[in-house]
Amino acid sequence: MCSGRVDMKFVLRAFLNGTDGVFIGGCRLNECNYITHGNFHALNMVLLCRKIMEHIGLNPERLRIDFMSSGEGNIFAETMNDFGKKVEALGPIGITEEIDKDELKSRIEEVTKLLPYIKIVKKEKLESRVENKEEYDGYFTRDEIEKLFSEVVSYYIDPDKCQACMICARRCPAEAIVGGKNRIHVIDQDKCIKCGTCFEACPPRFGAVTEITGEPVPPPIPEDQRMLARKSKKK
Ligand code: SF4
Ligand code: SF4
Repeated sequence: MCSGRVDMKFVLRAFLNGTDGVFIGGCRLNECNYITHGNFHALNMVLLCRKIMEHIGLNPERLRIDFMSSGEGNIFAETMNDFGKKVEALGPIGITEEIDKDELKSRIEEVTKLLPYIKIVKKEKLESRVENKEEYDGYFTRDEIEKLFSEVVSYYIDPDKCQACMICARRCPAEAIVGGKNRIHVIDQDKCIKCGTCFEACPPRFGAVTEITGEPVPPPIPEDQRMLARKSKKK
C-alpha cells in the first residue's frame, strides 16, 4: 500500500531475477495520509540503492522513483512511457555494464546479505526527510558508500571467554550461531547478517563477542574442542 514498504531487498531481487529496470511510484511528498510519511523512506532507500548500484557496477538509471497522486493518470502514463524508453535504451541488465551473469549474481547477493547491516549503519539518514530535490544526488556520496563496504563489521566469539550461556544463539535472527549446552559457541560467518544482536546480548561479565573491522575473522574453534571446561568443576 505504501511506497515506504518497498524494501531494498525487493529491488535487488528484481535485478537478480534479470529485471532491466525498477520503477517505484509513491504518493506526492508531504501529502501522505499517515504520520509515517513512508514516501520519504522510499526516496531515501532509492537514493542509497542507486549509489550501491553504482558501487557494484550497475547503471543507477535502472532504478527510478516518482511521486504522484492516484488522480494523475496522465502523469503516471507519461512517466512510465519515459522510463520504459530509457530502460529499453539501457539494454539488458549486466550486458551493457559488461558484467558476467554469475559475477552480477554474486555482487547482488553479497549486497543483499549486508542489507540488515547497511540499514543499521544508515538508519538516521534513511529515516530523514530530504525536502530539496537539489540534495538528492549528494545525499549519499560515493566515498560514503566506499567506506560503508570497506569498513564492514564482523562478529567473532572468543572461545576463551564464551561461557555457553546460549543467550546469543537464542537471539540471533539468522540462526547463525552454532552452540548448545556446555558447548563453546561459534558464528557461522556465511549465515551472519551482521546485525550486532549477539554483541549486545552477550552478558558484560563474559564479553565474549567482539567486533572486527578491516581484518579477517579468526577461524572457528574446531568442533572437537568446543566442550566447555567449567573452572568450578576442575580439581
Ligand atoms: S551479528 Fe550475531 S546475532 Fe547478528 S546475525 Fe551475526 S551472529 Fe547472529
Ligand atoms: S552470549 Fe556470550 S557467553 Fe553466552 S554463549 Fe553467546 S558468546 Fe558465549
